[in-house]
Amino acid sequence: MKLHCEVEVISRHLPALGLRNRGKGVRAVLSLCQQTSRSQPSARAFLLISTLKDKRGTRYELWENIEQFFTKFVDEGKATVRLKEPPVDICLSKANSSSLKGFLSAVRLAHRGCKVDIPVSTLTPVKTSEFENFKTKMVITSKKDYPLSKNFPYSLEHLQTSYCGLVRVDMRMLCLKNLRKLDLSHNHIKKLPATIGDLIHLQELNLNDNHLESFSVALCQSTLQKSLRTLDLSKNKIKALPVQFCQLQELTNLKLDDNELIQFPCKIGQLINLRFLSAARNKLPFLPSEFRNLSLEYLDLFGNTFEQPKVLPVTKLQAPLTLLESSARTILYNRIPYGSHIIPFHLCQDLDTAKTCVCGRFCLNSFIQGTTTMNLHSVAHTVVLVDNMGGTEAPIVSYFCSLGCYVNSSDMLK
Ligand SMILES: [Zn+2]
Repeated sequence: MKLHCEVEVISRHLPALGLRNRGKGVRAVLSLCQQTSRSQPSARAFLLISTLKDKRGTRYELWENIEQFFTKFVDEGKATVRLKEPPVDICLSKANSSSLKGFLSAVRLAHRGCKVDIPVSTLTPVKTSEFENFKTKMVITSKKDYPLSKNFPYSLEHLQTSYCGLVRVDMRMLCLKNLRKLDLSHNHIKKLPATIGDLIHLQELNLNDNHLESFSVALCQSTLQKSLRTLDLSKNKIKALPVQFCQLQELTNLKLDDNELIQFPCKIGQLINLRFLSAARNKLPFLPSEFRNLSLEYLDLFGNTFEQPKVLPVTKLQAPLTLLESSARTILYNRIPYGSHIIPFHLCQDLDTAKTCVCGRFCLNSFIQGTTTMNLHSVAHTVVLVDNMGGTEAPIVSYFCSLGCYVNSSDMLK
């Protein structure tokens, strides 16, 4: 029985000697071996750790020799086996979690002296070819190279499968827990499974040139919130992104070119880490008021269907304010937590998409809406011209929660 993973063997004497471990594992093949001798007819089980430098490997006896197992992060492919003699901690990482679980239970049996009911390996040096399982990068750019019968190496950190005619995301990719970069560009993918959100290390996702029509709320609320930095959704058929999209707070690079976007998510200003934004050749008539809060290095909005700002504002002021409006304003102004477990779902949606007045307060249904133009240089260092006329101005919506706010800021609208 073998396990491919990264291993670091740490002596527990090191801290006493004032030394520290390197904190970095090396690629290794772990084998569970048995050796019988004449004096001891019952098989003794060993753990053999072989590395590329040391293919014969180092042996560790297992029978009644394990002090403790540390398995809190076994689902992330990590575990530690603490041996009694020699006093070392064997730290395993980057393993396939299900193989790791199987291997650890076999090690546990060997420690108790039970017979291990699985084929154990013999004490022979590990072949160099076995280390090829540690591939971290794989690039496939044609249908004929796409693996149909073989699995992807579990250790992959960067996987590209482009021009493979994929109509959906291959479930085998979603088991690659070490994946940091996934490039599925130039395929025919229509929908993304929510389980992409289980790839906890995923930093870069490229879906350029597919048939996507949406980006789901479930994905916006997955672990991608903590990991995803670069997202390329260009050349798809996306009309709108959900308001929850702005919870992907680690995003620094977002490409939305060549879609059918008719609006940006209204809370786009919450993407505080965003530096590169391109949404060229969409159908944006104007920008949401929160767009002003962005702080970008690069912005490309070329070829959108921006409208001329309207002369007259749209007035939807209520007098007096409805009970719904006043309570919504109070909840948002005082940042009172809400959720669908307390109030009806449609009210949560209303609160999520409430408009922000120039005064910083919020409004739901009672407001004055005006359009003005903004120079895009106020939110980005480098701006690609908006049109062929050489302009860097685009229309932006502004909301006013009261007549007072409107009058005070009406200079803005001139
Ligand atoms: Zn106001």
